[in-house]
Amino acid sequence: MHKIDIELVEMTMDVMKYAINRISKTDPEIGIPRRAEDLKALVGETITPKGIGGEVAFGLWKEHLMKANVSIDHPRHLAFVPAAPTRAAIMFDLVTSASSIHGAYWMEGAGGIFCENEAMKWIVSLTGLPEGAFGVFTSGGTAANLSAIVTAREYWRSLNDQNKVEKGIIITSIGAHSSVKAMAKVVDVDVLLVDTEDKMEASTLQQTIDGLTEHQRRRLFAVVGTGGTTNAGIIDDLSGIATICENEHLWFHIDAAYGGGALAADSVRHLFKGIERADSITIDPHKWMFSPYDCGAVIYKQPELAKKAHSQQGSYLDIFKDEGAHGFNPTDYQIQLTRRVRGLPLWFSLSMHGTDRYKEAVERGLELAQIAGKLIEERPFVELVREPSLSCVLYRRIGWKPEDYTHWTYENHRKGFALVTPTKWKTGASFETVSRFCFINPDTTEKDIEMILDSMA
Ligand SMILES: *Cc1c(COP(=O)(O)O)cnc(C)c1O
Repeated sequence: MHKIDIELVEMTMDVMKYAINRISKTDPEIGIPRRAEDLKALVGETITPKGIGGEVAFGLWKEHLMKANVSIDHPRHLAFVPAAPTRAAIMFDLVTSASSIHGAYWMEGAGGIFCENEAMKWIVSLTGLPEGAFGVFTSGGTAANLSAIVTAREYWRSLNDQNKVEKGIIITSIGAHSSVKAMAKVVDVDVLLVDTEDKMEASTLQQTIDGLTEHQRRRLFAVVGTGGTTNAGIIDDLSGIATICENEHLWFHIDAAYGGGALAADSVRHLFKGIERADSITIDPHKWMFSPYDCGAVIYKQPELAKKAHSQQGSYLDIFKDEGAHGFNPTDYQIQLTRRVRGLPLWFSLSMHGTDRYKEAVERGLELAQIAGKLIEERPFVELVREPSLSCVLYRRIGWKPEDYTHWTYENHRKGFALVTPTKWKTGASFETVSRFCFINPDTTEKDIEMILDSMA
C-alpha cells in the first residue's frame, strides 16, 4: 500500500491531468446533489477487503460522484457565500498535501508555519490592530469564533474568583452568523440578541447593557460585532461598539468571516473603522481571500491571552515546547492540535500574484454588487430590498410568494444554469422571503447577472 509501483505512477499522472483540467476550467458544471441510495446504485460497493483498484475508483469519482457536488466556484453560483480559490492556491493545496507537514508546532512545521505567518502578517496589517497583534489559520470561521470566545471567557474568568463560578453572557445582534450562537452553546455561555438585522448601533447596545440586571451585568464579558453580515453584508458600528467595550471593560470580538476580505478594498475600508480596536477578529480566507477550503483565521490583539486559554499540556508534548520554544506554535492559539498548514496555499498565491491583485479581485466583487443593483433597477419586475452592501444584494421579484422563489431556485439548479437561493429579510416584526446574490468570484460577468434576473421575468 505504501510502495511505489507502475500503477501508482500512472494513476498519479491521471490524477494530475484531472486536476489540471479542473483548475483551468472557467465554467465548470454546476453539479447536482443526489440521494445516497441513488449514488450507491450507481457506484456499488466501493469499500471491500481486497479493494476495487484505483482506476475503477477514480472512474466512479469522475463519472458519478464528482457530478453530485456543487462547484462552488461556478460564476453563476451566487448563493450562501460562494468561493473562488485562485488557481495558484488550488495548485499549492496539492503541494501542501504532498509535503506531509504537521502544522501544530514549529519544531515539526517551521517552513510551512513561516509561510503561513508571512501571509498572516498581511491579514493582520489589513485590520490595523496595534503592534503585537497576531493570529492563526483555523478550519473556518466557526472554529475561529469558538477559539476567540473561549479566549475571552478564560480571560474574564481569570480576573476574579466570582467570575470562575458564573455562567458568562455575550451580546450580539440577530444579524450575527449562526455559528456565534452555536459556539456560545459549546462554550456554555448565554447569548443576548440585540433585535436588529440592520447595523448594530452603539446606542442600542448601550441600552441593552443598561437594561441588564446587576447579576446579568456581572456575567456579561463580551460583545460580538459583525464586519459584514452573511445575509446582507451589513457592518455594525464598530467604532461606537469599541468605545462601549472599552468603557465597560468588555471583550470586543468582530466576526468578519465573510466581510474581512473587503478590508483590502480601498473603496470600502472606511466602513470598518473601529476594527483596529477589537480584541479578536475572525476572517475567512476561504471566502473573500480566494483560498481553497478550509481556511479561516482568528486574530488577537494580545495573542498571549489566547495562548493561556488554548495551550495544551501533555508529557509527550513537552519536547515541542523546548525545541520549538524559538518558534510560533499555531496549536497554542486555537482549539485544534494536529493541523494542516492550511494557510500555505494562500501564502503561495499571495507571493505569486502580490497583494494588489487581491485588492482588485475584491473590488470586482463589490463592483458586481453595484452592477446588479443597477440591473435590478432597470427591470420593472424586480426591485431592491435595500441598497447593495459589500457584495450582497437583496431583491424581490414583485408578486412572488416564498414558494415561487423556491421553485425558481430548484429549476435553475436542475438545468445546471445557476444557483441563487432565497433568504429572509426582517422588517419590523415580519420576515419577507427575498432573493439574494453574494458576489465573490471575479469571473462572474454582467451577462451572467442579466441572464439570472431575466429568468425571473
Ligand atoms: C461563513 C461565516 C461564518 C462561519 O464560517 P465557516 O468558515 O463556515 O465555519 C461565521 N461568521 C460569518 C459572518 C460568516 O459569514
